[in-house]
Amino acid sequence: MSGNKNRDALAGELLAVTRALKEHRLNAGTAGNVSVRCDGGFLITPSGRLPERCSAADMVWMTMDGVAKGAGGVVPSSEWRVHRDIYASVPEAGAVVHAHSPFATALACQRADIPPFHYMIALFGGGSVRCAAYATFGTEALSKNALAALVGRSACLLANHGMVAYGRSLAHALAQAIELETLCGQYWRACQPGPPVLLSEEEMAEALERFQHYGDGMRGFKP
Ligand code: 13P
Ligand code: ZN
Repeated sequence: MSGNKNRDALAGELLAVTRALKEHRLNAGTAGNVSVRCDGGFLITPSGRLPERCSAADMVWMTMDGVAKGAGGVVPSSEWRVHRDIYASVPEAGAVVHAHSPFATALACQRADIPPFHYMIALFGGGSVRCAAYATFGTEALSKNALAALVGRSACLLANHGMVAYGRSLAHALAQAIELETLCGQYWRACQPGPPVLLSEEEMAEALERFQHYGDGMRGFKP
């Protein structure tokens, strides 16, 4: 690790959230990755490693230029570009979660946006959660597609892959990912008897407006 107290503490929190994603069954095996903004760059989980076999020292610090400063040559997540590009384009993003969670991934294989079937869709900033166009994992193209799907939103699906969500903090990003997977499960079930009744643009606009004053004003979450 760095010897930097703040960075060391954040690396411990990053590892805890990576493990929590498995406990919540949002990720399995080595799927998914997490990062947190830190020291002008970001700390990110290592590539291809089981969270239960990682230590905080395995978390990799990267500059915004994509230069990895991992101890002992630890390789950063193959999706570092998605994380870096979110930090570069969204100033309020403090942490990013990428997951292959079961319902979000199943829906992402339909390559369709999640429509406003439930008012909680507003939690992610608009009247739908978009599905990013398909691109190979770990590529710049995937990051570009994800960023396009994230315009005005704090989460999106990744076609035939999974989901990505960001928040102000690690706790917030984890909560966003859990909420999105919950909504995907609800949408999946709601579709079983036939297409669900969707909320109108006016109804979603009212829900979005209410969310501005819900909780602490940041769509109901205290980090
Ligand atoms: P990493 O192990 O490189 O983070 O890759 C996992 C993944 O989900 C790729 O999309
Ligand atoms: Zn992935």
